[in-house]
Amino acid sequence: MSIDNGPSGQFADGTMLAMRMDTAGQALSLARIPIPLPGEGELLIRVTACGVCRTDLHIADGELPLHKSPLILGHEVVGRVVLAGKRAQQFSCGNRVGVPWLGSTCGHCPYCHEQHENLCDSPSFTGYDRDGGYAEYIVADANYCFRIPDSYDDLHAAPLLCAGLIGYRAYAMTGAGQHLGLYGFGAAAHIVAQIAIHQGKQVYAFTRPGDLRSQEFARSLGAAWAGDANVAPPVRLDAAIIFASSGELVPQALAATRKGATVVCAGIHMSDVPRFAYALLWGERCVRSVANLTRADGEAFFALAGQVPLHINVVPYAMKDANQALNDLRAGAFDGAAVLVPDWTQDTGVDV
Ligand SMILES: [Zn+2]
Ligand SMILES: [Zn+2]
Repeated sequence: MSIDNGPSGQFADGTMLAMRMDTAGQALSLARIPIPLPGEGELLIRVTACGVCRTDLHIADGELPLHKSPLILGHEVVGRVVLAGKRAQQFSCGNRVGVPWLGSTCGHCPYCHEQHENLCDSPSFTGYDRDGGYAEYIVADANYCFRIPDSYDDLHAAPLLCAGLIGYRAYAMTGAGQHLGLYGFGAAAHIVAQIAIHQGKQVYAFTRPGDLRSQEFARSLGAAWAGDANVAPPVRLDAAIIFASSGELVPQALAATRKGATVVCAGIHMSDVPRFAYALLWGERCVRSVANLTRADGEAFFALAGQVPLHINVVPYAMKDANQALNDLRAGAFDGAAVLVPDWTQDTGVDV
């Protein structure tokens, strides 16, 4: 079999560089490890960009149980196919592909049969059950990879793979109301806001109290209003999506909604939701979570992203600086999405 050599010619010795997570709560370490080999239905992909998602932070911080150790994080992966298994011929060498969070499903559980593969009983997730994209190469099941609209370069396409895609799934559950609240104005919200505004909705952006920079960012993207999460918006919300991981936001969002509204919790992890008065839920309000994605979500979202010119605000980091990217995400140090790009140059003398 023939494969193209990596940009640094490192394919020859069968190894690659990766930012590896060994233990929760500790920094990722730069490691040289074997390049994984694809199975018959899989692709070997040279990573050209990998977004940093809040889920990565929850895994790295031990807020989600580890499924695999050591582990390579990263599930917003864009790259080029360098090797396709014999049952992965829907892609060929050189094709650009995106690898999302949903790595595989069983195909035969009740959820898979009911078109709810996002709830599959035996799934695998990229960068959690399978190694992800904080590396030079990744192996992915071809049936779960996406083609990405040409209008986005690799750097700006990476956040679409989770922030965009799962944000879109959450958005699709908010109904037809005009006034949409977004709690936590990070990577996902800044994409969802643009879709909602494009569809004629009014967006109300809620941030950590006093986070004037993020509020200004939201207004710059067209939000009708931006303010502190504990402040009532100027109108009653028809629906809200909570992207932040603070459970306190659930009663706060309910209090800001009108009767019949839906509040969608879009994160994989949330701190405990405090007790709240039933009156906040009364009036047929609904609180629900959104879990993972289906491939149909991906097809629908990328079709939309090809039509709506989404402005993706990206903060690039070298792969070797993945720890810095995670720390900056934790600290809320940037607007939009952090994306790792394949720069592995060492300036610290670390032997890799
Ligand atoms: Zn299943
Ligand atoms: Zn994610």
